[in-house]
Amino acid sequence: MKKYVYFFGGGSAEGNKEMKNLLGGKGANLAEMAGIGLPVPPGFTVSTEVCDLFNRNRKTIPTAVKAEIEKNLKKLEKTVGLGFGDPKDPLLVSIRSGARASMPGMMDTILNLGLNERTVAGLIAKTNNPRFVYDSYRRFVQMYGDVVLGLKPVNKDDIDPFEVLIERKKHERGIDSDTDLTADDLKDLVARFKAAIKEKTGHDFPEDPMKQLWGAVGAVLSSWMNDRAIAYRKLYDIPESWGTAVNVQLMVFGNMGNDSGTGVAFTRDAATGENAFYGEYLMNAQGEDVVAGTRTPLPIVELKRDDAKAYAQLEKIRHILEKHYTDMMDIEFTIQQGKLYMLQCRVGKRTAFAAIKIAADMVGEKLIREKEALARIEPDQLNQLLRPIFDPAEKAAAIKAGRLMTKGLNAGPGAATGRVVFNSVDAEAWAKKGEKVILTRIETSPEDIKGMNAAEGILTARGGMTSHAALVARQMGRVCVAGCSELAIDYAQHIMTVKGRTLKEGDWISIDGTTGQVIEGKINTKPSEVLQVLVEKTLDPKKAPVYQTFAKVMMWADAYRTLKIRTNADQPDQAANAVAFGAEGIGLCRTEHMFFGEGKIGPMREMILADTLEQRKTALAKLLPLQRKDFAGIFEVMNGRPVTIRTIDPPLHEFLPHEEKDQRALAAEMGLSYEKVKERVASLHEFNPMLGFRGCRLGIVYPEITEMQARAIFEAAAATKKRRIEVEPEVMIPLVGHVKELAHQEKLVRQTAAAVMKEQRVKFKYLVGTMIEIPRGAVTADEIAAVAEFFSFGTNDLTQTTLGVSRDDAERFLGPYVEKEIYAKNPFEVLDRDGVGQLMRMAVERGRKTRPGIKLGICGEHGGDPSSIEFCHLIGLNYVSCSPFRVPIARLAAARAALLNPPVAKKPAPVRVSKKTKTSGRKP
Ligand code: PEP
Ligand code: MG
Repeated sequence: MKKYVYFFGGGSAEGNKEMKNLLGGKGANLAEMAGIGLPVPPGFTVSTEVCDLFNRNRKTIPTAVKAEIEKNLKKLEKTVGLGFGDPKDPLLVSIRSGARASMPGMMDTILNLGLNERTVAGLIAKTNNPRFVYDSYRRFVQMYGDVVLGLKPVNKDDIDPFEVLIERKKHERGIDSDTDLTADDLKDLVARFKAAIKEKTGHDFPEDPMKQLWGAVGAVLSSWMNDRAIAYRKLYDIPESWGTAVNVQLMVFGNMGNDSGTGVAFTRDAATGENAFYGEYLMNAQGEDVVAGTRTPLPIVELKRDDAKAYAQLEKIRHILEKHYTDMMDIEFTIQQGKLYMLQCRVGKRTAFAAIKIAADMVGEKLIREKEALARIEPDQLNQLLRPIFDPAEKAAAIKAGRLMTKGLNAGPGAATGRVVFNSVDAEAWAKKGEKVILTRIETSPEDIKGMNAAEGILTARGGMTSHAALVARQMGRVCVAGCSELAIDYAQHIMTVKGRTLKEGDWISIDGTTGQVIEGKINTKPSEVLQVLVEKTLDPKKAPVYQTFAKVMMWADAYRTLKIRTNADQPDQAANAVAFGAEGIGLCRTEHMFFGEGKIGPMREMILADTLEQRKTALAKLLPLQRKDFAGIFEVMNGRPVTIRTIDPPLHEFLPHEEKDQRALAAEMGLSYEKVKERVASLHEFNPMLGFRGCRLGIVYPEITEMQARAIFEAAAATKKRRIEVEPEVMIPLVGHVKELAHQEKLVRQTAAAVMKEQRVKFKYLVGTMIEIPRGAVTADEIAAVAEFFSFGTNDLTQTTLGVSRDDAERFLGPYVEKEIYAKNPFEVLDRDGVGQLMRMAVERGRKTRPGIKLGICGEHGGDPSSIEFCHLIGLNYVSCSPFRVPIARLAAARAALLNPPVAKKPAPVRVSKKTKTSGRKP
């Protein structure tokens, strides 16, 4: 016969913690605790399967289930030596819901069930405490009236009829607090409650405890389908079919006097992860008093003073539970007249910070293995260890004071506070004066790079997670909140407005790039310990416990991952940060970003504005030594690690000024007429620049640009090598769709390399490869691999071109797309495995077919996203490349990908069947 009810208590249990699906989280853990001999009030759990039967069976409890409940009730009476409805020794029970997933407060609970006029009298005789008994009775009738008999207010503003009666009583008696109500007052209130119930329902309050029990079990099962629970399930994707279990358990009381109490605790600090008992309790109180906030609970350590025995027992249980569950647990307990009872335990919720510390500490304590620790830390949680943080109290106070202005995309995590400036020039100028600034722009472009670098943080009104602002900010390690659509910026007036609130240039603002919050005014920040040790080198690692935790996790991750981790960096300081974070090479150096450095934009613009080849070559000759110096700086920092340098990629108009004032200044600087500059800028205008004159197309039309860049790379390599520093340059050609494009550029690069080696009398190894970032490149990867020594997937453009969705303009509709689950996640953040991913897989297979040893990597923003990194692992890439501050995240994500997807064991070789066996006629 099918079993629907599971008993626990008296030193054993029919269920255990693995039975969450059947017993719900609460029931499974009560059974587990009872099973390992912890002091759990005995009881039984009605399985989740009954919930479905009940709700499909016109809300009636099936007869078989009723019989099982009755049988278990008898067993409970016997175990505890009390009788349900017995006027002398009454058994009182609690009825609680408990689904597979925690749904706090969504469903119903009834306490003190079994009380009626007869058992109340018996209990008073037994406890000699009429006030306690009537208070329990009052609570029971109120809860039962609310939950089972439907007197509960539906909306939060509705009046609770029972609370009205309590207030009236207090008023009559001239008292303020519930605790001043006497036993007689409470007795009278019970009578008034019952009268109110009769008036509302037309029925008497049920005196028969069995009738009470059926009503309560039915109400808890029904509460699975209440509006709150349905809404919660929708929000957290909890299927309706799961159902709730019902736990019927011996009541224990924390409000039986000063030798009783109740509390909640975590086996470790859930905020910091410290291995310290953390929680709070109240003497002479019931659970709801601890959470209601009417009395201030005390820190758990003070229980030592109030009840040393119970405290010592709890400390012991804390260790037993951690050892048993090998995790940090959240517990509820009650002390009834000096005896401790465990009412609940479950895996405790914690901050990211605590999650990492607890996982790492538990390895040290031999509770879990390294692999388990890595599985418990979400890679993105590492951000919390790396980022500057707001002083938490200051931030909370600012929000409480109404200073939260708006929210945008959390594009560059961390905390930044500074004065609002509206352009890059001002950002630099203010920063030079020692001011902290937040660069606030409608959107950013490569022109803003210097200002972004000078700013503490970047705030934009437009643009998504792979907008220029977002990706450059992440690469620089700048805090960034992007795409704040409520933000209106008036560059002319130097003001920004959000919902009627205006800030002008110089006003303080704070942005939280982890949450996307934009807060008016200043909030102090602190750099992370990890940063102080690894990057600033201002802190002794031995004095940095957070850093040590970080280092441990990283060491474990490195032992398991098979993917290499590179970084996207184009300045020596960015490269140095990335190396400090564990980068094993540069996967993308965007040379165009270098053109905005000191003294470079002038010759660059001269080159773009040139009319003749001669003029262009003159300008390029000025750029050559500047680029060479940049590359040498990077090679030096990377010290023999591979460095992938991409030839120029963006459309040329991005390097030219667009405003008349700036165009006039440029004309004056270059000795040209304003009209000439204006005309040239206009001539470079494109309707769709992302599909226009960019990528390798520039180098094909102007081969001298590729030649100059290749020469700068190789001359820098030669010079570095001469300084006895190893170099490993990899020249990467962007936006290749046809092998002939690559072949054209490759020839130039190789010719230049040969020339430089000859001139400099030094030999160095180098590779020439390509980005795979348009679908034709992926589809013809076999042909391209005949020329390319490596592929790097440019998944920003590959996503854009595969989906036909502009990476710069998609925010308006991608939000609704994700909401409607057309795409599960923003495909520019999390790789679209089924579309873009299939093209990648095809390119990997075809590329390897032509050139089995081809090096394969990814340098789009997905290279720093854990789910995308897992996909890269699955399709067999050699490395992922991401912004410097994501390197640790990528190291962990790569380790988790390897642990979750172990290599498939090779099939055992087929057993050879010898001739002899074959002819023996026996079946193998
Ligand atoms: C890409 O397209 O994925 C890429 C890395 O190049 P960019 O973002 O510079 O276009
Ligand atoms: Mg690209």
